[in-house]
Amino acid sequence: MSVNQQAHTGPPYGQPQPGYQGYQQPAYGGQPLPGVPQSQYGAYNGPMPGYQQPVPPQGYFPSLGFPSKGSPVSLNSDTSSLAPNFIGSLRAPPTSGAPPPASGASLPSGHLAYSQFGHGDVQNGIPASAAPMQRPPASQPFLPGSAPTPVSQTSTFQQYGPPPASVQHLSNHMAGMTIGSTAASAPPPAGLGYGPSTSVPPVSGSFSATGSGLYTPYTASQGPSPTSVSQGLPLAQSPFSGQPISAQRLPTQVPGFAPPPSSTGIGPSSYPPTTGAPRPPTMPGPPLPGQTVAGPPTSQPNHVSSPPPPSTMSGPHPGPPMSGLHVPPPPTHPPQPGYQMQQNGSFGQVRGPQPHYGGAYPGTPNYGSQPGPPPPPKRLDPDSIPSPIQVIEDDRSNRGSEPFVTGVRGQVPPLVTTNFLVKDQGNASPRYIRCTSYNIPCTSDMAKQSQVPLAAVIKPLATLPPEETLPYLVDHGESGPVRCNRCKAYMCPFMQFIEGGRRFQCCFCSCVTEVPPHYFQHLDHTGKRVDFYDRPELSLGSYEFLATVDYCKNNKFPSPPAFIFMIDVSYNAVKSGLVRLICEELKSLLDYLPREGNMEESAIRVGFVTYNKVLHFYNVKSSLAQPQMMVVSDVADMFVPLLDGFLVNVNESRTVIASLLEQIPEMFADTRETETVFAPVIQAGLEALKAAECAGKLFVFHTSLPIAEAPGKLKNRDDKKLINTDKEKTLFQPQTSFYNNLAKDCVAQGCCVDLFLFPNQYLDVATLGVVTYQTGGSIYKYAYFQLETDQDRFLNDLRRDVQKEVGFDAVMRVRTSTGIRATDFFGAFYMSNTTDVEMAGLDCDKTITVEFKHDDKLSEDSGALLQCALLYTSCAGQRRLRIHNLSLNCCTQLADLYRNCETDTLINYLAKYAYRGVLSSPVKTVRDALINQCAQILACYRKNCASPSSAGQLILPECMKLLPVYLNCVLKSDVLQPGPEVTTDDRAYIRQLVTSMDVAETNVFFYPRLLPLTKADVNSDSLPAAIRNSEERLSKGDIYLLENGLNIFVWVGVNVQQGLIQNLFGVSSFSQISNALSALPVLDNPFSKKVRSIVDMLQVQRSRYMKLIIVKQEDKLEMLFKHFLVEDKSLSGGASYVDFLCHMHKEIRQLLS
Ligand SMILES: [Zn+2]
Repeated sequence: MSVNQQAHTGPPYGQPQPGYQGYQQPAYGGQPLPGVPQSQYGAYNGPMPGYQQPVPPQGYFPSLGFPSKGSPVSLNSDTSSLAPNFIGSLRAPPTSGAPPPASGASLPSGHLAYSQFGHGDVQNGIPASAAPMQRPPASQPFLPGSAPTPVSQTSTFQQYGPPPASVQHLSNHMAGMTIGSTAASAPPPAGLGYGPSTSVPPVSGSFSATGSGLYTPYTASQGPSPTSVSQGLPLAQSPFSGQPISAQRLPTQVPGFAPPPSSTGIGPSSYPPTTGAPRPPTMPGPPLPGQTVAGPPTSQPNHVSSPPPPSTMSGPHPGPPMSGLHVPPPPTHPPQPGYQMQQNGSFGQVRGPQPHYGGAYPGTPNYGSQPGPPPPPKRLDPDSIPSPIQVIEDDRSNRGSEPFVTGVRGQVPPLVTTNFLVKDQGNASPRYIRCTSYNIPCTSDMAKQSQVPLAAVIKPLATLPPEETLPYLVDHGESGPVRCNRCKAYMCPFMQFIEGGRRFQCCFCSCVTEVPPHYFQHLDHTGKRVDFYDRPELSLGSYEFLATVDYCKNNKFPSPPAFIFMIDVSYNAVKSGLVRLICEELKSLLDYLPREGNMEESAIRVGFVTYNKVLHFYNVKSSLAQPQMMVVSDVADMFVPLLDGFLVNVNESRTVIASLLEQIPEMFADTRETETVFAPVIQAGLEALKAAECAGKLFVFHTSLPIAEAPGKLKNRDDKKLINTDKEKTLFQPQTSFYNNLAKDCVAQGCCVDLFLFPNQYLDVATLGVVTYQTGGSIYKYAYFQLETDQDRFLNDLRRDVQKEVGFDAVMRVRTSTGIRATDFFGAFYMSNTTDVEMAGLDCDKTITVEFKHDDKLSEDSGALLQCALLYTSCAGQRRLRIHNLSLNCCTQLADLYRNCETDTLINYLAKYAYRGVLSSPVKTVRDALINQCAQILACYRKNCASPSSAGQLILPECMKLLPVYLNCVLKSDVLQPGPEVTTDDRAYIRQLVTSMDVAETNVFFYPRLLPLTKADVNSDSLPAAIRNSEERLSKGDIYLLENGLNIFVWVGVNVQQGLIQNLFGVSSFSQISNALSALPVLDNPFSKKVRSIVDMLQVQRSRYMKLIIVKQEDKLEMLFKHFLVEDKSLSGGASYVDFLCHMHKEIRQLLS
């Protein structure tokens, strides 16, 4: 399956896309340059630019050999000699006309940097002399053995999931689900059971009994609803069922069944769970009346792992057979009284990890009971509704063993929770791009009808696991990359070479462009260039081009970037020990700045500022015996009082920097200053970078609301009374536009701002975060920071943040086939026009979600193509273009759309959409819109793709069967429905974090992972199988871990054996466990080691160090923990999963009627 075969010419002429604004378009068709070799993509430049191996804390202090402290030198003399007025005279012109910042000797100019890396590191042609490849060249047949490997990359920071859980599952085919028509009835409130107390009034609750009425049909009565139970109750059959249908029947009518939605009908029951082998893809059993048959082969229940050729994908849809679509039960079938658990192949396995769970929802939990006799039929069994755990497990067992090969158009990748390898054969890895659907409707009408958002979640600089190959760096010399004359798309595997190779037709806009002579190559008999496999841009989905000077600001190659550390030294920061901690850490951390490839030292220069109401700049020039401080107290018009000596090379100025970091905590030890400024701090960093004519990142450590007299001064405007009012949106908006303008200036300079906040009270994250957000920076918040409990978390975050790969001065554009175009963007960036996403900095964790809309028709033959081009400056100052290509299928049948969707990505988009919506609309409006859109998505499926005979049942497309549960999690999240303990700053913070999250992060954030620790196998490396996020899944005799990417809870049941408590906590009884612990004690026994290794494993998978919280059952903190049991009703009024499913069903029925 050659990628070439997927290269379709685009549909007729489409809108040309203008080039990057602000950067010159390299003239296409430049003359061939002498000396530019024909085959010139650089050797695999293995090392991601500058990505450094995260260093475990313990490895890093000892290794440092700081020079001994210099003789104590008081900075006072320097300070006194540099009174503001005096400094004023030194003031440099604010513009970039300033003299070069540092001596030419220590700071390579842009050109120097370029020649160094451009001609040293990057080689033209295939360098045989390159370092031996240490990674298997997964998808690169070319360049054998020529790839230097980034020694630094280890598995520690892999983003992909843990090894698949040990649970072996038969690949159950989840044949869609049906839910009986009893939608109008509601289960009793969760509070009746073991759940959260009902005495807490719901705060906002659209779904609460006292809520806004959204849910009134059943919440009002909280009891059986008058709605009759439909006869067609949940029967579900797998389209592949070989079993007698009658044996699978669910009771059509459950006596006494009232509240719970009769969400019983589950398809998977139709085949024997014990089957050890995949069932044949054919339908063995006689179809029921109205039953449709389809679906992927059983070995690929949820997704097509080995997708059929495009022709079959785009062909007419053979009936409604959504993959594994539920088939409604024929009305003629009698109820099956014996049906109990609805346990089928699919859901039944879930019970493995929860043997003690015996209670039926929503009754009281039956802790400790064995899953022996099924509960009485009148009870709703939550196991009968789609289980996230089961879907995840199924995907792992079905798709985790084979590499995902990207050669075929429109393939749905494995889930983000599945651990799989990717082989690039012409499309970008799902680690870089994931889509809401891999089969796009051909027309706008169809797209509107379905309401399925068409979006891509793009992580351009994603970290890859060590087994996968990093994008190759292609150097076309001075002529730069080959591009389409009209739309400026970059050469990619989908371009079609014609006329013997002399011209190529653009796959995006169909324009025909001459092949530049130096790029000419003959075609083979299939029309493929004979150098196809030698050129990444012809055979791979992702690669990089070395950018020419035309892609650089002001037509100058950039200087290496700089990092400026800006430390709040006001009273709170000093008193908490924070200042000392930061200075101590920086002493060692500065040796771990990002490096390019095999460079011995980082090219990044560093600078230091401290501040409270005034700013202190430090001259740390290597020739000085001691650092010099310069104070700027006129913060109204910020400037940088020194140029030479402010940004320095760490090695050259090592002694002076060490001395400075030693002295800062002492200098401010007795400070009484409590007020801070903020905007002038950012301005100072910005001016420093401007003066140095480079991009860079500011690391700002800040503690309080900036109330001191200065530009950007803020007032405390927090008001929780605004929640659930029309003014709630103001809580998310910045209180002044000052910071928006500042951010704009920062982006223009490539000044990215990372913010570390340590508030003891409201400090207006919504306003302070604007600069971070719009410059592509990261924000971290440590409320009530305490050294003992929070320093590890903060230091781990700081280390990772400083070391991680980051591109500067970045511009991203997404080009598409004619017919669709990118219309909306979500993420941390700035846009000055409608097409270019600008980021002062873009790191390996940042994601941009892009929505597409039709502006014309697409064709099934051509499919739809996306090309994401990211122009950025590497950490060594090299200008590069990273290109990601993805080809999608197009369909004329809705069913094809619905069976190629990815719910996790859909949720990522919907959450970001909603979280942006709260800036301008009342939260309730946003929530209602979300519900409505999802109801429309599901109603459209129901109406157009599902069997017509299944009226009264909820039928979910196989790929979207988790949409309701996940959507409910989004609706209940702190931004959209805050609990009483959630602060305004928390909400603004979460809102900002989610906006940059990738699909894996939103997945675990909205539906946390819950692991029974006491079920862990201490002799294996695997994680215990996860369980569903519901209190009734917890046993009093067990210990659980819950993680959501920000927090890790360890929940201890009241009846846990003393021995386990002793082994894990080192105390003899439950009552002695301290919930003040911020880490588990290090004890020498297998259980303690196992649990700590699990915690460590989870920590390295996440982009942030999670806060560990010990929760004892029935303790106060348990309320906090229960907030994350997202299948249960929440204290803030959020609906339980079953309630919500019921509600969705009702909404869908209304749309259909
Ligand atoms: Zn074009």
